[in-house]
Amino acid sequence: MIKPASSTERQAALDKIAQEVNACKKCPLYSGRTHGVPGAGPVDAEILFIGEGPGFHEDKQGLPFVGPSGRLLEELLATIHLTRDDVFISNVVKCRPPENRDPLPREIEICTTTYLFRQIDLINPKLIVTLGRYSMGLFFPDAKITQIHGQPKWENGRAYLPMFHPAAVLRNLAGLKPQAEADFKKIPGLVEEAKRRASGGTPAAPAKSDEQPPKPTQLSLF
Ligand code: URA
Ligand code: SF4
Repeated sequence: MIKPASSTERQAALDKIAQEVNACKKCPLYSGRTHGVPGAGPVDAEILFIGEGPGFHEDKQGLPFVGPSGRLLEELLATIHLTRDDVFISNVVKCRPPENRDPLPREIEICTTTYLFRQIDLINPKLIVTLGRYSMGLFFPDAKITQIHGQPKWENGRAYLPMFHPAAVLRNLAGLKPQAEADFKKIPGLVEEAKRRASGGTPAAPAKSDEQPPKPTQLSLF
């Protein structure tokens, strides 16, 4: 039997990904970056947040969600008694697109297959929270955020929860903040449910109707 990698080994592999990102020239986004933004957090995090890509502040500091969106994310985490150090925060693309334009399909494909999906394998989170359209698109192809935000799906014992991007919430605080807060409130229960499933326990009643069969590939959108 293959011995599962220890926390130290997995942390070293995550650090290696971070080094690779900072030297990466696999897609055109490298040319505009000040710093690559590989992501940050403990390798044993139970929750992985995935944003879209670095903005101005993230590019300057090499850290994810350190600008206004990051402040809101921290505020929302505090409502469920978490800090950013309790979770892993990553992005679909690791280098800032020029003028914060949307990442292109090819850039998303190259960057996620090279880095994000390796991070997911190493961290093996119980819950993946997608922030915004592009992150949602990796796991909920063709979905509309206004229709599915806050509605989890399960695959192979892991929960996926689509949420509004904090930048979208900031643009429409009165309209979206209450919804974002309500969506965040679902996080602790989903993590507990994933642990129950992992330990062979029965799912909490009532039985979930959102169970979906595993998809063979996450890359069908490309
Ligand atoms: N917006 C994102 O999608 N990611 C960040 O890291 C910061 C802002
Ligand atoms: Fe490499 Fe991703 Fe940066 Fe493109 S966005 S250069 S693939 S790290």
